[in-house]
Amino acid sequence: MAEQRKVGASLLTTAAERRQFRRSLLAWYDRNDRTLPWRKRSAPQAAYKVLVSEILLQQTRASVVAARYGDFVRRFPSLKALAEADLDQVLTAWAGLGYYARGRNLHRAAQQVREDYGGRFPRTPEGLQTLPGVGRYTAAAIAAIAFEHPVVPVDGNILRLAARLFACSRESPLLMEQIQSLAVLSSTKQATRPTTNPATHPTKHPTKHPTKHPTKRNGDFAQALMDLGALICLPANPRCAACPVAKFCAAGSVGKGADYGARAKPKPRPVRRGVAVLVRQGKRVLLVRRPADGLLGGMRLPPMTGLDKTSTPEVAQWITRGKKYGIPCGTVEHTFTHFRLVLRVFDLRLTTRPKTTQGKNTNWIATNRLTEIALPSLGRKVLGCTNGITNGVQPKGRKKKPKSRKKQ
Ligand code: SF4
Repeated sequence: MAEQRKVGASLLTTAAERRQFRRSLLAWYDRNDRTLPWRKRSAPQAAYKVLVSEILLQQTRASVVAARYGDFVRRFPSLKALAEADLDQVLTAWAGLGYYARGRNLHRAAQQVREDYGGRFPRTPEGLQTLPGVGRYTAAAIAAIAFEHPVVPVDGNILRLAARLFACSRESPLLMEQIQSLAVLSSTKQATRPTTNPATHPTKHPTKHPTKHPTKRNGDFAQALMDLGALICLPANPRCAACPVAKFCAAGSVGKGADYGARAKPKPRPVRRGVAVLVRQGKRVLLVRRPADGLLGGMRLPPMTGLDKTSTPEVAQWITRGKKYGIPCGTVEHTFTHFRLVLRVFDLRLTTRPKTTQGKNTNWIATNRLTEIALPSLGRKVLGCTNGITNGVQPKGRKKKPKSRKKQ
């Protein structure tokens, strides 16, 4: 009941208030929206571009995505180009972004749109959620931004903002309903794009795209909420004095913005320990492809343990040999969503290349070609434990100077 009373303190209870809120927010957005390479103001955005940007933005900061988005869409400029590409090409373009399952899902989603939907995206959040890697948030973002669907994509930023607007906890069962009520308005008149003369009313984006029918600006509204959460309604210190919707905010209007919207403290990640072996012969290094599904699925890595409970036979063989004959050359730490991995790394030099390493999942890669293949940052860290392999991230652990090297 206490929860109910807090939500009841909302200053957005009537349709007129919600319309006014929307108008204030869109007016602010027209002057202050973030310049991001995947945003296009002259026409509705193509669903493909929204899909790419939203998948990239899952678990990657906007500034990093901004630096990589252009390269990705130049390489795969259309849904067709992406669907027809090899997975290896996609994963290579994804290298360094982490969470490679996203790259695989994006590739499969493009193929599914081509095969199951004749190359045209489903237009509703429900239809979009049938695509691999497209969850509730991403589906809502595509539906709103590409198809003007009246829905708010709710991520951590918008959840925090909404918890403050309605002065309730992030976990409140009523909160989602309250957020979505902001997107659904019966009247569109006040929310249409402004058509002011740019000469007399200069704005950051003076010419909005003209349409025959008044648009509800649902895509802009969703992006305006995203920008408000990213620029004004900040996690620790919300900038209420600069907030265009402060008068509608149940928490901010009474100086209590920072009291709401905090995330529960994350539990410390468990630590897994393992071993990695740099198996080298001449100027080549042995990489083993991971199973297609699961963590770093389909990626190539030096043989290592710790990622899974069991190793493939190829990996188990090299771990045993590496620990027996290799030279310790460093320690690598890598953080995944659910655990932290600590690897002892061994350098194992061979004079000949065993026939058992010519299998489907094992490759000897020339060290000067390592930059051309999809190598996750964990792999680069491990390879960085010895000089002359790659310019990957150096390990945090101390390198031990090899005294003698056994060859086998
Ligand atoms: S008034 Fe403050 S707390 Fe409320 S939405 Fe604006 S910045 Fe956030």
